[in-house]
Amino acid sequence: MKIDEIYNEYDKMFVSNKMPFIKCKTCGRNYYYPRTVCPFCGGSNIEIVSASGTGEIYSCTEFNHGFYGIIKFQEGFGAYMDIDGNSVSTGRKIRIKFKEIKGKVLPYASVD
Ligand SMILES: [Zn+2]
Repeated sequence: MKIDEIYNEYDKMFVSNKMPFIKCKTCGRNYYYPRTVCPFCGGSNIEIVSASGTGEIYSCTEFNHGFYGIIKFQEGFGAYMDIDGNSVSTGRKIRIKFKEIKGKVLPYASVD
């Protein structure tokens, strides 16, 4: 799989309100950031799958316009994204939602 194909597939899944991640068929581990080879074992036998869309806040920082941080997903991978909610703090459960920014659909974490 080429890097462009991964980005295209991610964009398509975002538009369908699905949270993608990459599953390595060699070592079985999961990761999020588009890479053509597995960061754990270096294997290139990978597939893009849809996540449950639930997880928890691993770390977060407050900015003047909101929160940003690392979400640890149920499937074991982590990803940086905007976090929305009234009580944002480490360990809080989240659910993925989607928003359109400048014509591009992107995921964000909403505190349950
Ligand atoms: Zn691997």
